[in-house]
Amino acid sequence: MNSAPLVIIGGGAAALCAAIAARQRGASVLLLEQAPRWQRGGNTRHSRNFRITHDITPLSLGIYSAAEFRADLDRATGTASNPALRQLLVDESATLTEWLAGAGVQLQPVTAGRVPPSRRTAFLRGGGTAMINALYARAAELGVMIRYDSAVTGLQFEDGRVIRVEVGRGAGAWSVTPAGVIVASGGAQANRNWWRERWGAAAAGVVNRGIPHADGAVLNLLLQQGAQAVGDPTQAYLVAVDARSPADDGGIVTRIRCMPRGLVVDAHGQRRYDEGGDTASTRYARWGQRLLQFPGQVGYLLLDARGLREAPPALVPPLRAPDLAVLAQQLKIPVPALRETVMAYNAAVQPPADAAQALNWHTVGLEPPKSRYALPLRERPFAAYPMRPGITFTYHGVGVDMHLRVLRSDGSSFENVWAAGMVMAPNIFSSGYVSGLALTISCVSGRLAGEQNPHL
Ligand SMILES: Cc1cc2nc3c(=O)[nH]c(=O)nc-3n(C[C@H](O)[C@H](O)[C@H](O)COP(=O)(O)OP(=O)(O)OC[C@H]3O[C@@H](n4cnc5c(N)ncnc54)[C@H](O)[C@@H]3O)c2cc1C
Repeated sequence: MNSAPLVIIGGGAAALCAAIAARQRGASVLLLEQAPRWQRGGNTRHSRNFRITHDITPLSLGIYSAAEFRADLDRATGTASNPALRQLLVDESATLTEWLAGAGVQLQPVTAGRVPPSRRTAFLRGGGTAMINALYARAAELGVMIRYDSAVTGLQFEDGRVIRVEVGRGAGAWSVTPAGVIVASGGAQANRNWWRERWGAAAAGVVNRGIPHADGAVLNLLLQQGAQAVGDPTQAYLVAVDARSPADDGGIVTRIRCMPRGLVVDAHGQRRYDEGGDTASTRYARWGQRLLQFPGQVGYLLLDARGLREAPPALVPPLRAPDLAVLAQQLKIPVPALRETVMAYNAAVQPPADAAQALNWHTVGLEPPKSRYALPLRERPFAAYPMRPGITFTYHGVGVDMHLRVLRSDGSSFENVWAAGMVMAPNIFSSGYVSGLALTISCVSGRLAGEQNPHL
C-alpha cells in the first residue's frame, strides 16, 4: 500500500463511492468530511431516488433503455458540455443498483407499494440517510480513514500536481501530502455571498433545502489554480418550499407541489401564472424560479376544503381560516384584493362536458388562465401554504475528461486531481433537471473516479 493516501474531499455519495472503489483497488484512502459526524453525508442524505437505465427489475417498473434515458436528458437539460461523458453516465447507470447493493445499500422493490411507482428511477430503502450510513459502514470496514470536522481550506500545487492538502484553520489546522485528490465537495448552493451576487436583495427571500456546508470553497480553490470552469455560474435549481422552512437543511419534506389544486397569489393577492399549466414532474421547480420574482419572494398557495383533501401531507400544516377575509388577514394580504381574485376566478371557471374529470376543468376569459384542474374555490375552510424559492444545487463546476481528471483552462489535465459529483455535474447538464439525475451522477462519477487510480 502506498504511504501517501488518496485524499477524498467530501462526505456525500460521490465521495463515498470514490472511497470504496479506490480502496477496493488497494489504494490507501483518506476521506475528509467538513461536517461533524452527526451531519455527515451532504445533500445525499436528503435524497431518495436515482435514475437508471434498466431491463426488467424489481426496483422499477417496465424497461427504461439507455436511448430513452439519453433522450429524456437531452430534452430536459439541453446540450451537455461533454456529450461523451453524458453518454458514459447513462451507460454506467445500468450497473449502479448492483454496485450499490454490493456496497451494502438497500433498495426498495417497487412492488412493496411504499414508494411512488417509477419507471425511470429506483428508490433507496430508508432514503438517503440509510444509504449514507451503509456506505460509511462499508468504507470503514474496508479500511478507509474517515475524518469528520475536516474542512479542506487549501490545495498547494506544483507542476500540475497537488502536493499538499490543507485542513482547517488556526490552531487546529493540519495538512497532508496526497498521492492524489478526488474532489467530491458538492455544489455552492449554501453560499449566501453567491446568492447575493446573483440575486441582490432577493437573496434574503431564498432558503437552502440542503446542507449548510456546500459553500463551493474547494471549487473556488480549483478555479483559482486555473481549472476549467463549466456550467452556468449565474443559475441554480430552485424549487417551491414552505416559507416556514428552516434557513438550511429542511430537506425534501419542505417542498410544496400541489399548485394545480388551488390558486397561487402574491403578497398583493394577485395571480401571476397558470396553476394548471405545468406537468407533474417539473411543477415545483418552475414555481421555485417564479417565486424568486414575486414581491418579497413569497407566494401563497390558496386551497379550499376540497383542495386540502387532495393535497399531499406537508412538513407544516397550512394556515386555515373559516372564510377568505380571515385568511387574507392572516396572510397580511389586502382583504378586497384576495376576495376579488378568488371571485373573478370562480366566475371564470368553465365546467367541461365530463365534469367528473377534474383535469378538464378550465377558465374562460381570465388572465392568466387556469388551464387544468380549474375547480371553483368555495368549500370552507380555506387554507394557504406560504411559499419561497428553495435552492437545491448550483450549475457551476470544473471540467473533467473521460477519466474524471480535472481539466485546466488550456485543455490539459492536472496530473493527480479528479472530480466527482455535483462539483463536476455541469459537464453533464447545466440547465433543467430530470428526477434522480443528481444522485446517479454522484454515484457513477464517484465510482469511476475511484477506479481511475491504478498507479496508487
Ligand atoms: C432536499 C434535497 C433532496 C434531494 N433529493 C434528490 C433525489 O431524490 N434524487 C437525486 O438524484 N438527487 C436529489 N438531490 C440532489 C442530490 O442529493 C445531490 O445533488 C447529490 O447527492 C450530491 O452528491 P455529492 O456527493 O456530489 O454532494 P453532497 O452529497 O452534497 O456532498 C458534498 C460533501 O462535501 C462536503 N464538503 C463540502 N466542502 C468541503 C470542504 N471544504 N472540505 C471537506 N468536505 C467538504 C460536504 O460536507 C458534503 O459531505 C436532493 C437534494 C436536496 C437538497
